[in-house]
Order: sequence, then structure tokens, then C-alpha cells
Amino acid sequence: MRCLLCQSWSLRYICKTCEELHLKPSLQKRVLPNGLEVYYFYKYKEIEELIKSKYFFIGYFIYRTLARLSFKEFSKSFLFDEKVYAFACDASIKNGYSNTSLLSRYLKSNTIKPLYNKLISTTNISYAGKTLDFRLRNPKQFEYKFKSNINAILVDDTVVSGTTLSQAEKELAKYNVNVLFAITLCDAKE
Ligand SMILES: [Zn+2]
Repeated sequence: MRCLLCQSWSLRYICKTCEELHLKPSLQKRVLPNGLEVYYFYKYKEIEELIKSKYFFIGYFIYRTLARLSFKEFSKSFLFDEKVYAFACDASIKNGYSNTSLLSRYLKSNTIKPLYNKLISTTNISYAGKTLDFRLRNPKQFEYKFKSNINAILVDDTVVSGTTLSQAEKELAKYNVNVLFAITLCDAKE
């Protein structure tokens, strides 16, 4: 097959050279209005085409590559005194498979335990391409189904306005879950 980025022959969707040239993650941080810290590795514009692949079959392989380069490396260096649980934020009941769950899988370490289907949006609303006003008027109505009094990390692929992450944090706060920070592949702030 051909590398998606440079078109040269490759055994992988993204060749080793392109990985090193274009996909070197750089850990950065943004703070949302509610104080939640969001760590991310890329600017949306840098990996826009790759993020859009999630709507297609190939997205699974692309996200796996991005997760290995960024989330996995992050989890190796992340230390904390207590167990930390990672929750994917885009999962809805209707989605059997979620790219965000795939990302959180790569956070697995001695410290971090990813959990699936424990924080679920009950509305199945997508915020892709929607205005901030729409996002605020149509909350995702997260439902939490796990232990109280734990430490958590929120996971998503892109942070735009931060509405989804803020809504998820608010739901977890009802159960006295301490959200340490959120982590996303990229930041789409203009
Ligand atoms: Zn290439």
C-alpha cells in the first residue's frame, strides 16, 4: 500500500519517515473556563485529515498509530500515588465502537486503568461542526455508573470549546470523583 501522507510504498498506513517528520507529539496544555486542565499533543490543523479518518474504516488504524505515538508515551511517564481511572467522553449507548475508547486503551499502565461504558452520553448528540450556543443548549447528559471517591482522567480526541469535557466533569463531581485533568489528541481552538 501507499503511505497516506507521502504516497511512498509502505507496509503501514503512515510510513516511519512521516511518523517522525509530521507526527512528533508535543505535550501542551490549555485551561478551560471552569479550571479544568486539558493536555493535548497536536494542533487540530496539523492532523485534521487524520482526525477526519475516524468516519471511515481506516480511522481505526490511524487512531491506533496516533495513540501509540502520544497517549502511550504519556502513560509511561505519568506517575501518581493512587490508582487513576480513565474515562472516554464520546461514548454513547448506540456506538458499539468508539475511537475515544481506543485512545484511552493506550493509557493503560500500572497507575492508569481505562474503563469503558461507565460514563455514557444518553442523548447521542454530536457536537461536530456545531456552534458553542448549540453545544450549551444541547447537553450530552452524561450518566456515570462506577465508584465514588476516585481519581479520574477524561479522554477525548479533540477539544474544541471544552463543552463535552466540562459536562463530563460536572457529572463526575456529583459522585465526588476527582478529575485530575483531561487529555486529548489535539486542540482545535482557533
Ligand atoms: Zn510517508
